[in-house]
Parts: sequence; structure tokens; C-alpha cells
Amino acid sequence: MLGADACAVRTLEEDELVVSAASGAGAEEAIGTRAAATAGLSGDVFQSRSPLALDDLASDARVAGTDEILGAGYAAYLGVPLSGPEGTLAGVLSVYARRPRDWRPEEIEALLALAGNTSAALANAELYSRVSLEKERSVAILANIADGIVAVDRDGRVVLWNAAAEEITGVPQSEAIGHTTMQVLQHELESPDDETRTSGQRLVSVSRGGDEVWLSLSEAVMRDPLGAVAGRIFAFRDISADRMVEQVKSDFVAAVSHELRTPLTSIYGFAETLLRQDVPFGDEERRIFLGYIASESERLTEIVDQLLNIARLDAGDLQVESGRIDLGSVVTELVASVEESGAMNGHRFEVDLPEEPLAAEADPDRVRQVFNILLDNALRYSPEGGTVTVGARRNADRVEVRVVDEGIGIPSAERDRIFRKFYRAESAARDGAAGTGLGLFIAKELVLAMGGRIWVDSTEGEGSSFSFELPAARE
Ligand code: ADP
Repeated sequence: MLGADACAVRTLEEDELVVSAASGAGAEEAIGTRAAATAGLSGDVFQSRSPLALDDLASDARVAGTDEILGAGYAAYLGVPLSGPEGTLAGVLSVYARRPRDWRPEEIEALLALAGNTSAALANAELYSRVSLEKERSVAILANIADGIVAVDRDGRVVLWNAAAEEITGVPQSEAIGHTTMQVLQHELESPDDETRTSGQRLVSVSRGGDEVWLSLSEAVMRDPLGAVAGRIFAFRDISADRMVEQVKSDFVAAVSHELRTPLTSIYGFAETLLRQDVPFGDEERRIFLGYIASESERLTEIVDQLLNIARLDAGDLQVESGRIDLGSVVTELVASVEESGAMNGHRFEVDLPEEPLAAEADPDRVRQVFNILLDNALRYSPEGGTVTVGARRNADRVEVRVVDEGIGIPSAERDRIFRKFYRAESAARDGAAGTGLGLFIAKELVLAMGGRIWVDSTEGEGSSFSFELPAARE
């Protein structure tokens, strides 16, 4: 249109004009170069906000040095300002001619008109890059957020299903897009009424490969300018684990309350009976009642001790002070004290110990505690009485203790689980034997802390054999 030989667009970045586009021999090399917005010919156009037309600069070496394109062999220059949004200045549009020439007023007008169009294109490009940057940002946020985010259109069809939604529901995005949440999850996510929709979080359960997953779900409704529903966005997180913890906690509170109540009821009952004025009790009867009160109090103390132990284990605060001990004498002592305590209920102990001492590297109090739990279980889980065989032996660099009963036994499926916190075998709970499910967990943790291990062999209906081993003391 102007018969020019080169042109350049300079745009403002901070306080500098940067050659962001150029065409013509020697001009393209200038792309990316920057100069102060006050410097050179383009700086003049920028500062004056008006066109600058120069016909012949070939003879003026001073001016040629101020414009990097002019220096590549051009003689005439015409520059006009480029405006940005809201009357700001965005840069300078310049054209160059090799030979000296004059720029006619209509040519200057024409370049100004072109600059006007360029400004609009620049503004669009800027908006476009801002939108695509924002979109990229949203996509990155949606992909990395821990919450499941699902968007549906006005017909309830999924248009967005982020990575967390895939993980939480187990449904890949490709299977979800284009379907309703009912088809995808066999469950409507949309709130049935307006009230719950505005009140924040709701609980919804969906199935993930057969498992029930609990979601805490919130919902936002998007409306078009006329107020009609244009789509919905659901955000949810998997709170199944929290729910399970709550469940375990309340089961535990129920079990412990029951455990504490049983001995308390006996103690209270016997004490009340002894206090009666109307019935004269003989010495023998009194002794029996007081005996019950004493043994039930002991049971209470045991339960409270177990709870304290659990609290210490949970806090990682369990002290073990290992030293050289003789396991054989620990076993003999404890068996004698259980026999004396009157807890035998028709059982008989058989002790099987080698002649020589069995020196182990362990904490004597902790070993007593573990052994006590095993003896106590052997008596409680063999309701018909029978023999409880207690043995200990040396096994290479280990010392092993065994407690064998002739009781109800443990089904093979449950043999690992009984060492878990709170776990009680079906049979034990069914027979109504008292218990908290804590003893074996404590025993296992204590044995592990002393560098040993504990395990069980059992035949259901015939009996169980619990064993634990500890490092032998070095000679
Ligand atoms: P509690 O006896 O208080 O329930 P434990 O942790 O000591 O808790 O035992 C966990 C479960 O292991 C018991 O509930 C019972 O089902 C089973 N169990 C433990 N010892 C024996 C045993 N000697 N014979 C049969 N079952 C046992």
C-alpha cells in the first residue's frame, strides 16, 4: 500500500519498546531487541503519541544509529503510535524505505488506519493468551486438587471429571463424560431439594468395585442470565476412613463400657449383700463374697492397665529396659501366683521346664505382662477346664515360651487377626467370654519391642498353643 521496503511492530514491555514483529531485509534480525521507550525514532513517536515522517536520513549518521532497522540500510522512516485498550499506548508501528522519499498525508492517514486495526488484533491476542493461561491454570488446579470435582451440563450430563474424581469413584474420565451421574455411579449426586443444596456438605455413599465409599459432597448450581439452571458443579472427598475410625471408636467405647460394667456390677452386688442387716451371714459366706469383690476389683485394674498400655503404645511412649533374666523362674513364679489367686476354675497347670536356667535378654516386667496375658486367655478360653501346659526351652540363639490349652481354639482364618487391636474372634464373642480384644495386641507389641516374635497354632474345638520367643542372653 505504501510501497515501503520493511516494517516493524514495537510493543511496550515495562519501560521498553521491544521489536515483536518485523519484515524486510535486515529488519527480521531486530526481532526481540529492546530499547528505552524514550529512545530513538520510535521513542519519539511513542512519547509524542503522533506520527513521525522522515524523508531522508541517509545523510544523517546520528539518526541512523538510534534505530536498529534504519541502520540496516534504510533512508526513509514513517512511524505511528499503536493504541492499547482504554486509551493507553501499546507501542509503535513503523515502515522503512530504502531510498529517500516523501510521505504524503494520505499515506500517513493510511498507516494510522492500519495501526488502528493492529491495535484491535493486539488486544484480541492479549485477551486470548490471558484466557488460555487462565484455562491452563484451572486445568492444573483441577488435576492436582485432592477433592473430586464433577461438572454436569443443564441435562445432567458430565462435562468434567477430574483425576481425584477418577481415583475416589474408580470410574475413569472416559467412561464418565457424556453420561449422567446416575448412569456412572448408580447414584444421583444432585440434591433432591433446594434446602440441602444450600446447606453445604451432604453425605452420600457410592460403590467402588463392590466397596462402599462415603463421600462428603457439596454442590453449586450455575445459572444462565435468565436464571435457568445451566449446569452444576459437585465437589466431594472420600471420608470412608474417617467413618471407619468413628465406628471402631464407638465399638470400642461400647466394648470397654461393657467390660467395666460387668465387674462393677458384681462388686456392687456383693457389697450391697454384705451390707444387709436382715440376713446374718456366716464367716465362710463373708469370705466368699469378699473373695469375689477382690477378684473382680483385680479384673477392673487389669482392664484399666490394658487401656493405659494402649495409650502408651499409641503415643509411642512404651519403655522397655532389657537385661539378663532367667525365663524359667519368671514362668514358675507366675504360675504359682495364678494358682494361689483362685482363678483356676477347675483348670490344672502342667509346667515343662529344662533343668538349666534359661537366660534371655528381656525386660522382666514386660515378660511377666505378656506371659500373664497368655495364661489369662488360656484359662478364659477353655471354659470346660482342662490342662494348661506351660513350657520354655532354648532354641539356638532364642528362648521360647509356650502356653498350651485345651479350650475352644481359633479358626485358621482368624489366627492373624486376633493380634490386632480390638479384634475378638467370632467364637469368643459368641460364647459371651468377657474381653476387650486388647491383650494379644499389647503382648505382640511388647514382644516386638524386646526384639522377639509371637505366634499361635490351634485346632478349632481342641485347643490353642501360643508361643513367643526372645533373644537368648549372651554368655
Ligand atoms: P480379649 O481376650 O480381651 O478378647 P485378646 O487380645 O487377649 O483380647 O484376644 C483376642 C481374641 O483372641 C479373643 O477375643 C479370642 O477370640 C482369641 N483368643 C485369645 N486367646 C485365646 C485362646 N487361648 N483360645 C482361644 N481363643 C483365644
